[in-house]
Amino acid sequence: MIIVLKKSPDLDQIDRLTDWLKSLGVGIHLSEGATQVILGVIGDTSVVDIDMIRRFDIVEDVKRIQEPYKNANRKFHPDDLIVNIGSDVSLGGGHFQMIAGPCSVESEEQICLIAESVKKSGVRVLRGGAFKPRTSPYSFQGLRAAGIELLLKAKEKTGLYIVTEIMDISQLPYFENIDIIQVGARNMQNFELLKELGHTQKPILLKRGLANTLEELLMSAEYIMSGGNEQVILCERGIRTFETATRNTLDISAIPMLKNLTHLPIIVDPSHATGLSHLVHPMALAAVAAGADGLIIEVHNDPVHALCDGKQSLTPQIFEQVAQSIQQIRPFSWKRE
Ligand code: PEP
Ligand code: MN
Repeated sequence: MIIVLKKSPDLDQIDRLTDWLKSLGVGIHLSEGATQVILGVIGDTSVVDIDMIRRFDIVEDVKRIQEPYKNANRKFHPDDLIVNIGSDVSLGGGHFQMIAGPCSVESEEQICLIAESVKKSGVRVLRGGAFKPRTSPYSFQGLRAAGIELLLKAKEKTGLYIVTEIMDISQLPYFENIDIIQVGARNMQNFELLKELGHTQKPILLKRGLANTLEELLMSAEYIMSGGNEQVILCERGIRTFETATRNTLDISAIPMLKNLTHLPIIVDPSHATGLSHLVHPMALAAVAAGADGLIIEVHNDPVHALCDGKQSLTPQIFEQVAQSIQQIRPFSWKRE
């Protein structure tokens, strides 16, 4: 981190600034030029709040050289992180997974039917929303606790692992037997929720917010990881742009960019990214070509009558074709090494 001081800075103020920085555990290197004094801050600068530096009157400008995240930073963790799901499934570090299931759990018959069919296509993790974040309070809000029970029934019947979304800390007790906790796009910056999930030992599927940068996504992962839970899977699910033909715009470049910045696995959700079922297959292929560690795809046995996101849901038959075509270029890896 570089701090540029204003001309002729007060020496007492320089001392106060450097003493405060040193108290945070970082080192200071002072360079005095003909017209300007510059402080180089060395060490772990992720603990330094840049706005706190700007409060000092003598400071003209501050620039970060190092990213503000440490736990999620590939620089400090060169090897890909492998996330362990249940007792025998891995994701990341060469292990590719396809997660599939309905947007929302609607009934026991529906979730079990979809679970059986996606399992036949090679899926090991079933998705299904119980607590649903909906734009309108008048839309179907999910079966909530009863939906979790139905997911657990599907787990029992099929042996599939379960990923489902949490919307509030108070719902955490329902997630005891859930294998991956999803933090949806709308909650990516619910910091209290992230902190609490940092104290759990379950894998967290963290979706990128509708209008969030990659750095913000990684800072949210940092919230979870700094609490002690390193098992974070990132998910690119499309961002909001001026384009209206698709529900969101899938940021494919986010995949190789995140691969550079972090060792965490990255999966892609082509269903929410496009909002249209016929775009799911091409975008899934694009995501895999760009290096994604997995896909999460919405599948419904009767998309026309789905209570949520039918337009972007694949039938089990179409999903089977997509899964086969993905397997040809990126075989699913089931077993943990
Ligand atoms: C979902 O996966 O069901 C969902 C609501 O996704 P997102 O948070 O990405 O909108
Ligand atoms: Mn959905």
